[in-house]
Amino acid sequence: MKEKVHIDAVLGPVLLRKAPRSRRLSIRVHPVKGVVVSMPSFIPYAVGVAFLESRREWALAALQRASAQNVTLPEGESIESLRARAKAELPPRLKAFADRYGFVYNRLTIKHTTSNWGSCSTRGNINLNLNLMRVPEPLQDYVLLHELTHLHHPDHGPAFHAELERLLADHFSRHLEEDAFRQYLQAIGSSRARYRITSVLEKALRGYRPL
Ligand SMILES: [Zn+2]
Repeated sequence: MKEKVHIDAVLGPVLLRKAPRSRRLSIRVHPVKGVVVSMPSFIPYAVGVAFLESRREWALAALQRASAQNVTLPEGESIESLRARAKAELPPRLKAFADRYGFVYNRLTIKHTTSNWGSCSTRGNINLNLNLMRVPEPLQDYVLLHELTHLHHPDHGPAFHAELERLLADHFSRHLEEDAFRQYLQAIGSSRARYRITSVLEKALRGYRPL
């Protein structure tokens, strides 16, 4: 199965998924993956994006309903099952980002807290919240890159935001067709936010909260 992340100016990250057995375009809101567009594998991603845009209002309403439900654990999940998945999935991803973007951290700890998604100490120790397993993958990537950026800039000043925005642009451009990425930048071009990708992802993350 092939898939790409498309960042919609209103909905935030959307998963475009090509399934070999899929016969038609469909859209749904998944409790963990967020908005997912399923499409036959022979259809170009750009057609999936156009389909998404034609159903944006429906998706936004469904996403808001799902976010309201995100104050409970998904069915069949416990804190322990989230912890096990977080311990399996997050360390290799953090390491891969660190290697690609030239960060060196000391120790990674998976924690259960209701106060934040992640943190980074002045000693270079990174904490990630096991609740990250409840949010869509692009938002997990955002938190991982956010904490890594703190290794260079402990505060949330302009230098921090400039570096994080650059990393996010690079990371997501690898997952998006170039045209889709350009369309995305144009779509949010009127946004007054200085760090546009960061602000879209932060807004999407606010639809969730750690339990
Ligand atoms: Zn921070």
